[in-house]
Amino acid sequence: MHLGPNGTRLLQRLGLGPELERCAVRPEALEVRAFHNGATVARQEMGEAWQQRFRAPYYTVHRGDLHRMLSSRVPAERVHTGKELVRFEETVYGVVLHFADGTDAHADVLIGADGVHSAVRRAVAGADAPVYSGNSALRGVVDAADLPDLDPALMYMYAGPTARVLLYPVAGGRQFTYVVVTPAAEGAAESWTSAGDRTDLDAVLTGWDPAVRALADAAGEVRRWALYDREPLERWSTARTTLLGDAAHPMLPHHGQGANQAVEDAVALAVCLEEAAPGSDGIAAALRRYEEARRPHTTRVQLGSRTGQQPKDAAANRRIDAESVDWVLDHDVEAALVGSENRLHQAA
Ligand SMILES: Cc1cc2nc3c(=O)[nH]c(=O)nc-3n(C[C@H](O)[C@H](O)[C@H](O)COP(=O)(O)OP(=O)(O)OC[C@H]3O[C@@H](n4cnc5c(N)ncnc54)[C@H](O)[C@@H]3O)c2cc1C
Repeated sequence: MHLGPNGTRLLQRLGLGPELERCAVRPEALEVRAFHNGATVARQEMGEAWQQRFRAPYYTVHRGDLHRMLSSRVPAERVHTGKELVRFEETVYGVVLHFADGTDAHADVLIGADGVHSAVRRAVAGADAPVYSGNSALRGVVDAADLPDLDPALMYMYAGPTARVLLYPVAGGRQFTYVVVTPAAEGAAESWTSAGDRTDLDAVLTGWDPAVRALADAAGEVRRWALYDREPLERWSTARTTLLGDAAHPMLPHHGQGANQAVEDAVALAVCLEEAAPGSDGIAAALRRYEEARRPHTTRVQLGSRTGQQPKDAAANRRIDAESVDWVLDHDVEAALVGSENRLHQAA
């Protein structure tokens, strides 16, 4: 996944900087290439240039590495896996959680960070339907050695007439992740792990530049990802319960921001809860403050992510590249809330 400076500055303050440097890749540049002959159409310098511009690095990282880093910061005894929340009740004293295994738990606050199919979201905001984007993506990971004409220090975008291919290095540059976005009829599940087919990849890349066509031979397990999001919510908190990440604002992947926004949410919520006045009213006010700080911003990112669709024509392709997401990458959620960047340093 892509970690923008808006997310990495927070992860660095939590003490994850050295491990990110070790496991993740700082791409030197994004090259946009012609699909048929591989000519470089545009090159966006990243690396040191983006470090200077946004005051934090831009990384590409394997999701498993990020999970491992985050969970290493949490005491093991605080994590209870295999607990499916099926319902909960809120009282003035707290929240009672009921799990599928028949156990209960009591908490001061319930944070529904349970993803795009969130049970907490349904309870807080009502049922809603996924919105299909008209596109699906074939995706997977290949060894960088199998794409010998591509440099694992770079990210690549090949923009063809019926597909857009994004390739970026992960696992310290030993692998490339690929995402091949094409228009597709609705009908697939709202899932990113459905089985895909290598022959689809082969068909899409027929006639493409050999450097990227090599993907079709190198790909092992191909996944199909039907691209859905949801409409932004009008509210996402009650007095004792709130939402975070995809549960609150599932978005299309075109700006690579879903996880980054979840990290921003988590930091904002931590600051608001840390500064909460004691008692029920203090908690309710903290959740309101969190939602007011986050919902306008994430709604803008969520709706903005819809603009990066697979284009219908070549002119639209060029328009997409011109779109700026500087305001997303530049954001420092902690500084915006407390007027300083020091809170996480102290917490870490
Ligand atoms: C292929 C792909 C590539 C992506 N690339 C990027 C990228 O480059 N950059 C980026 O920022 N974002 C990216 N995203 C988006 C990013 O993965 C999500 O936005 C992010 O994972 C959201 O985190 P989350 O914690 O809110 O939800 P999730 O990661 O979905 O986690 C939710 C968790 O809740 C659990 N859960 C669900 N229901 C229950 C329940 N009832 N009880 C208990 N637990 C429950 C689930 O098992 C899961 O572990 C990508 C997504 C995909 C699919």
